[in-house]
Amino acid sequence: MNKKELLRGIPKIDDVLQQEPLVFVAEEKGQVAITSAARAVIDTLRSDILSLKDEDAAGFDKARFDLSDLAEKTLRKIEEDECNNLYPVINATGTILHTNLGRAPLCKDAVDNVAAVALGYSDLEYNVAAGKRGSRHDIVSNLIAELTGAEDAMVVNNNAAATMIVLATLGAGKEIVVSRSELVEIGGAFRIPDIMEQSGAYLQEVGCSNKTKASDYENAIMTREQAEDYDPDWNRRGMMRFETGALMKVHKSNYDIVGFTEEASLEDLVKLGKKHDLPVIFDMGNGLMLDMSEFGLDEPNVPMSLATGIDVILFSGDKLLGGPQAGIICGKKKYIKAMKKHPLARAMRVDKMTFAALEATLRKYKDRKIALRDIPVLNMISASAEEMKEKAEKLASMMLEIDPELELNVVEVEDQIGGGSAPMVRLDGYAVAVREAGKSAQATERKLRKNDIPIIARISEDQLLISVRTLLDGELEKVAAAFK
Ligand SMILES: *Cc1c(COP(=O)(O)O)cnc(C)c1O
Repeated sequence: MNKKELLRGIPKIDDVLQQEPLVFVAEEKGQVAITSAARAVIDTLRSDILSLKDEDAAGFDKARFDLSDLAEKTLRKIEEDECNNLYPVINATGTILHTNLGRAPLCKDAVDNVAAVALGYSDLEYNVAAGKRGSRHDIVSNLIAELTGAEDAMVVNNNAAATMIVLATLGAGKEIVVSRSELVEIGGAFRIPDIMEQSGAYLQEVGCSNKTKASDYENAIMTREQAEDYDPDWNRRGMMRFETGALMKVHKSNYDIVGFTEEASLEDLVKLGKKHDLPVIFDMGNGLMLDMSEFGLDEPNVPMSLATGIDVILFSGDKLLGGPQAGIICGKKKYIKAMKKHPLARAMRVDKMTFAALEATLRKYKDRKIALRDIPVLNMISASAEEMKEKAEKLASMMLEIDPELELNVVEVEDQIGGGSAPMVRLDGYAVAVREAGKSAQATERKLRKNDIPIIARISEDQLLISVRTLLDGELEKVAAAFK
């Protein structure tokens, strides 16, 4: 047979669709999905024939024209097409808040609450007790107030949105004073100077990269009168000045400055704010709610920061708070109220699923022990090296049971918080180092990544390492099974 004859022999899509297994699934999967899958299968067959060299045409496997075989392939294609683009993976990197892997895994109660609220109707904006309209802002604001000491709170899509709305509300057309050592880039397009510009506020940088004193902030403050009287010609570059809107501190979330350094504390800024009747903002970033210094995490936390008397503090929901993606703004009622009324509030509001997950997560914080036990991020941070060693040994023995040929070593590793939080903190952890006979570490890494639940592991010094700190309940079995 030559190529032309082969092409003529390609079955018609309709004939494939008449095959019994496809007729069966038509009801469930829909005719559109089945037809397009069958077309894709036939197209592949046709292009395989077209790419044949003339002399190879005679040897073409004609079993590929078999209708039941093509129907089988169509079924497989339908299944592939149904695969979601967002699916679970197993994090074996030891980096707890892995930004590429979705940051914080949620606690079980958060997930259950999302399902309960999302499957039906909810009181998202309805006050059931009073029988009238309510506000979604009220869902967690009392809880946040109770847990942190804030007067009021508001939730938006993420901390970038929180920064935007805080600056737009308190700083549009005004100057916001920030230290030159705190003009952070979190990643991608989030850079404090750029967000500031988008919000309509004017960045007033003070101090030096390594040292900023409280007096630097104070010297930069402009009253409305001073701004109005300000003569740009006095200034070498002829720049206009504006009334100061707020003093702002930004947490050095993802970097550290060491050596000859100095910074103004929150307390210093709060004192200055009081003196000059200006709000003080703290972009805190990570949302740590508890004192975790006993686990080596020397970071400011939300209640402690609010206790300084700060006016507005903002942070992420899915970093060290361990909840869903969200930006939480809390502090003095008069400022939060103004933000809730800002036109951007609607554009940045979160939906019922976020509230459901956030409320269930926040409830855990009523009791420190429960928070450490139930919130995965906190549980992973507080796990001891001893526990990690046992977990790694358990995983190694499970893997050996599956494949006794594996060469395994339980090794010490340094796990990280990740997610642009606490970059200097290293947690003493353990990993299983794997070597498969005749296989490179890269080949094993690739195999794990191609597992039906992909397992993301890392290679260090030519060893494949499976860090156990970030393996959740039930995942040891799945990792071991990948070596079948
Ligand atoms: C992480 C972070 C942000 C951005 O928060 P997202 O929730 O990722 O939008 C802003 N500011 C600081 C200081 C941060 O650490």
